[in-house]
Amino acid sequence: MYKSTRSKANFVTSMEAIINGIAADGGLYVPNIIPKLNTSIESLLEFNYVELSHYIIKQFLNDFDDKELLDCIKKAYDEKFDTPEILNLVKKQGVYFLELYHGPTLAFKDMALSLLPHLLKNSLERGNFKKEVVILTATSGDTGKAALEGFGGVEGIKIITFYPEGGVSDTQKMQMLTSEGDNTFVVAVNGNFDDTQNEVKGIFNDKVFNEKLMRNNYILSSANSINIGRLIPQIVYYFYSYIKLLKSKDICLNESINFVVPTGNFGNILAGYYAKKMGLPINKLICASNENNVLYHFLQDGIYDRNRPFFMTNSPSMDILISSNLERLLYEVSGKDESVVKGLMKDLAEKGIYEISNSMKSELADFYGGYSLEADTDNTIKEVFSNSHYLIDPHTAVAYSVYKKYLNKTKDSKKTVILSTASPFKFSKSVCTALGINVTGLDDFELMDTLSKVSGIKVPKKLSELKTKKILHNNSCDKHEMKFEIEKLLKV
Ligand SMILES: *Cc1c(COP(=O)(O)O)cnc(C)c1O
Repeated sequence: MYKSTRSKANFVTSMEAIINGIAADGGLYVPNIIPKLNTSIESLLEFNYVELSHYIIKQFLNDFDDKELLDCIKKAYDEKFDTPEILNLVKKQGVYFLELYHGPTLAFKDMALSLLPHLLKNSLERGNFKKEVVILTATSGDTGKAALEGFGGVEGIKIITFYPEGGVSDTQKMQMLTSEGDNTFVVAVNGNFDDTQNEVKGIFNDKVFNEKLMRNNYILSSANSINIGRLIPQIVYYFYSYIKLLKSKDICLNESINFVVPTGNFGNILAGYYAKKMGLPINKLICASNENNVLYHFLQDGIYDRNRPFFMTNSPSMDILISSNLERLLYEVSGKDESVVKGLMKDLAEKGIYEISNSMKSELADFYGGYSLEADTDNTIKEVFSNSHYLIDPHTAVAYSVYKKYLNKTKDSKKTVILSTASPFKFSKSVCTALGINVTGLDDFELMDTLSKVSGIKVPKKLSELKTKKILHNNSCDKHEMKFEIEKLLKV
């Protein structure tokens, strides 16, 4: 069963949690109990990605029919990934890069968003749900396209994606604006990601507006990582990479390892925390931020303060000052105390700042926080390429840059996995610049070709084909008009 982080009552099934997206009190759904792995890790060694996903996810989504769940998972992880194993684990620079970007939109969001539409559709069918679901997403660039790709053409569901105008890369923008499917809508918002995400959250909590949609036979749901159906599939690759290291004898059974996660909304790293709670031997979860280092300070001194300048960086998917999923961590480290979470979230909304108690602080030892300045990130891309002839994107570079600092400071020699969250080709301009290539006058497609020549890797087809795709969306609005935009698009 699932419940809100902000109140005691109102248990819902996982299907209801997936359909609703966010709890009625504004809190996030959390599992009442994080299940413990009920077998030894050794017994998982022969599982492929689909089998392991099924094994892990069914422990969280146990109201799903077992066979139907497996069907959903099979449909999610198929040939739309350009590697048969779904992900790659590559040893370079003394660490392991877990490439999570082999899906259709070239970012790790595909790992969950290939599955969420199937889970939602199944939940709607099982619940004999008569309403049409409207997925609202705020995107810092990657979620939007991954959600449009996942939900495009799915019957009974419409998807509206809001992105901050100027806050995404040209490639990300092209990806979204060329999305096909009668049920897809893309809107540029005059504001940054936090504005956009806040407004979307506000819309979810707007009773009058939701009732109006209800009368028109619509119900809102979310494809952001506030939806528990996004979070749970992400637990799987922590286990999968561990198992791969075991099989290749890079680690021994029960050896604990580190994961470094380039973090924005705290969704990916929270999935790692859940994996640890399930029993995966994780030493540190290293939370890597860019110059928007609000999480670094939080992990350092227990004070979350969003009252600070917002920076637009080369890792735009992490340009976030309000990390939504931290609320779920607060819930766990407060000893599942809803009133504490509610109070902290009230402070955040009203004052933009909150401080946690000492006992909560002491529960944060699973994490280590660090950040990378733009110059460090660029140098890291260059260094990894010069030393290992291996291309990484700016988000992954933030992670590796933070790891180097961690290593320097702690001398921790434990094996470490770096989560590679996007293809370098998706951020070709930033990557070329970091490599010292002159980018003036070249568009993203020319830069992809340049990167391809330099690295000897082919431009991923899903990106090169964007060049000839038609732009199908041209909506834009002010951050205060998002609600009206929805009304317009749904004709209510
Ligand atoms: C979304 C995203 C992140 C941040 O992940 P969170 O779950 O929001 O912390 C990092 N890198 C890339 C490329 C992303 O798309």
